Amino acid sequence: MRFLPVFLDLRAGPLVLVGQGELALAKLRVLLAAGARIRWYAFDRDAALRDMAPLGEAALSQIDLTDADPLHDDWQGAIAVLCAGAGERGPAVAERARHAGLPVNVMDDLAHSTFISPAIVDRGDVVVAIGTSGTSPVVARRLRERIEAALPGRIGELASFIGQRRKAFHARIGDFPLRRRFWERVIDGPIGNLVLAGKPREAEAALNAIDDPSAYAVADRKGFVTLVGAGPGDPDLLTIKALRALQDADIVFYDELVSPEILDRIRRDAARMPVGRRVGKPGIGQDEIHRLLIEAANDGKRAVRLKGGDPFIFGRGGEEIEALRAAGVAYAVVPGITAGIGAAAASEVPLTFRHEALRITLLTAHKAKDAEAVDWSALTDQKMTVVVYMGMTAAATIRGGLLAAGRPATTPVGVFARATRTDAKSVVGTLDQLPELAAQVDGGPAILIIGDVVAHSAPWRDAQLQQILSTFQIAAE
Ligand code: SAH
Repeated sequence: MRFLPVFLDLRAGPLVLVGQGELALAKLRVLLAAGARIRWYAFDRDAALRDMAPLGEAALSQIDLTDADPLHDDWQGAIAVLCAGAGERGPAVAERARHAGLPVNVMDDLAHSTFISPAIVDRGDVVVAIGTSGTSPVVARRLRERIEAALPGRIGELASFIGQRRKAFHARIGDFPLRRRFWERVIDGPIGNLVLAGKPREAEAALNAIDDPSAYAVADRKGFVTLVGAGPGDPDLLTIKALRALQDADIVFYDELVSPEILDRIRRDAARMPVGRRVGKPGIGQDEIHRLLIEAANDGKRAVRLKGGDPFIFGRGGEEIEALRAAGVAYAVVPGITAGIGAAAASEVPLTFRHEALRITLLTAHKAKDAEAVDWSALTDQKMTVVVYMGMTAAATIRGGLLAAGRPATTPVGVFARATRTDAKSVVGTLDQLPELAAQVDGGPAILIIGDVVAHSAPWRDAQLQQILSTFQIAAE
């Protein structure tokens, strides 16, 4: 290691920036966002003022623009010197900074620099600095992207949350190792999870409910349940949060609909338990699922309830969090891409379209019986796209209902089976053909989309092309 990472206190004094142009502007943006005060030596004042205009209010209050000579001006109180786009003046400025005992960086000029700027991941109080000793900024940037993805978005909030309460708790825990243990418990347990899930008030309440912090430090770990939407099947459609939850889990309760590629993303050592139903075969039942989730949490486990698509769209996620709340178990919900949205994207069905489709209805019609219970008269609006979940076995009833309600028989429809998976299959046609189309996709799970927008989809365009080609063929024969 040639460069020692240190963090400069931006409140201690201004930074000196010498130079102009794109490089200087890029530096200014970073420094402004960090809240730095900057004494900026620009050589062309008018150009500098023009550059500052789009930087907004912050630029006016944080930048002290000067046309003084940086080689002779007073640098009293400055904490570091940066040269960006300073051209030939760089080495002289560096020389002066060294004499003044100030750290100096001349961009792209290691020989005249005494420090270099790292790539930064900025999460408030949590900052990660990545350096490559000046060898490859591109490597640093790539690493930053990975760290960005791996760090919870609210990690800075967690650090501040603890920072604000640390002193008060230290007065209550005498022993130093016990203090560390206490905070580890807080961070890894439900309280930390609540802060990361954006529920600081609940976290605060849970923290205040700790009567004896020393006992809490050594007590059994309290568990946490995360309801995670797994999306429609393609593992790359998992959210970063979902992936993190899978990587942190002690046990995962998953539905039948969750694809094997997604199960592959679960932490290797985690226990896995299927709890879903298959078509025709009952699962273990919703009450039993609730019982298992509560039991896992009470055993101190980090449990994940992994559901196809989104937990709150025909996923019974609502019932599950009600059961968890009633049992006093801490939980968070991570949304997923629901099958209808996934299928629409994969087959290029724009669910809304200017002037053509102004509303979307998500509907379930599990069995013919359920489909008969649907109020079809609410679905007659021609400018409404209807997305049907679990509609395969009821396709004929759905057709009947919509036709009776007055949707034209020529309304474009599509059946999108196993959407976003490698064995996806979609067929398109018109409303009067719906049951035949449903029979052509070799089984579910499948989404039915009904509405004019289906005529914009990729399978629709393909079908039209096929038709034209076959006309040619007939003509040729
Ligand atoms: N919570 C889930 C829906 C569960 S209901 C979600 O938000 O997607 C189960 C229904 O979802 C299936 O009957 C089918 O209609 C639909 N479905 C789930 N995965 C699908 C996929 N990959 N392709 C098409 N439809 C799918």
